[in-house]
Amino acid sequence: MEQTGIMIANRLLIAAAFCLMCTSCDDPKTPDSKGVVAEVAEPSKAIERPAFSADSAFVYIEKQLAFGPRVPNTGAHVQCARWLEAKLTGLGAKVVMQPANVKAWNGDQLSIVNIIASYNLEATRRVMVTAHWDSRPFADQDADPENHDDPVPAANDGASGVAVILEIARQLQLLPADIGVDLLLWDAEDYGSPGESDSYALGSQLWARQPHVPGYRAIFGINLDMVGAKYAQFPKEGYSMQYAPDVVQRVWDAARSLGHGNFFISRRNDPIVDDHYYVNKIAQIPMVDVIDIRQGTGFFDDWHTRGDDITNIDKPTLQAVGETVLAVVYQAR
Ligand SMILES: [Zn+2]
Repeated sequence: MEQTGIMIANRLLIAAAFCLMCTSCDDPKTPDSKGVVAEVAEPSKAIERPAFSADSAFVYIEKQLAFGPRVPNTGAHVQCARWLEAKLTGLGAKVVMQPANVKAWNGDQLSIVNIIASYNLEATRRVMVTAHWDSRPFADQDADPENHDDPVPAANDGASGVAVILEIARQLQLLPADIGVDLLLWDAEDYGSPGESDSYALGSQLWARQPHVPGYRAIFGINLDMVGAKYAQFPKEGYSMQYAPDVVQRVWDAARSLGHGNFFISRRNDPIVDDHYYVNKIAQIPMVDVIDIRQGTGFFDDWHTRGDDITNIDKPTLQAVGETVLAVVYQAR
């Protein structure tokens, strides 16, 4: 993920939207003075959806971290890919691995693999939930220059989104959704060079040009990036608003109705080139980015440092994101 654009000052605090419970409503079916029973609209049917477990997602982050940084061309990367393939298969998904060799900005030849886990394959109407699973090889934002050539543990910037997706997979196995769901884990999102946007997101660029199923379509997608840190702020990011404003509304409305408006804030943010950009631009599937960008300070403090470890992860953030995405997926028709 490259940080572009200027963060604007003036912190905007959006209160969570609370539904005021009315305890003194008249019974809507009480006859009026003429004995006529008023027609009242049926409340919209509650859609069945499973509960999201942040405890489970937290464990999935720890699991990924135990491999070490998941940097392409390393043993940790190979082992984690195998684990993700086996885990998602065990959770009832049909898993497709999309391997490729790509050239990085610095000339490195990278052996990468996108991991695609599908549910309800027969359904023609499908939604995508995605995150990058690789770790950045350079902690180039670390306060200590000695660490700049070391890899990032990537607890928040990588593993958190994957963990939310794994927990969604677990819930999809327990209670199948009506719609088809494709969970995509992008590789080589974070191998890029600052200032060169297209040097990032190599896995999603590859998939957007060559989807795992030729002619693949989804009605919309949600990308998750840095969704585990304390006090996360998910603004309405610029490319999401440009390419997928209806999806932004769908996701942010769902968050607010669940009481997560303190995370999913109304502020509009400058565009950020992330995996969703290429899915929108090349594959032309409307996709939003749920990405933690704080007003004035940008990404979380340990972004692209050696400090992006498990101590950054806060379960209430995982819960807010997981519940919101599950609600959107199970409501999709
Ligand atoms: Zn990153």
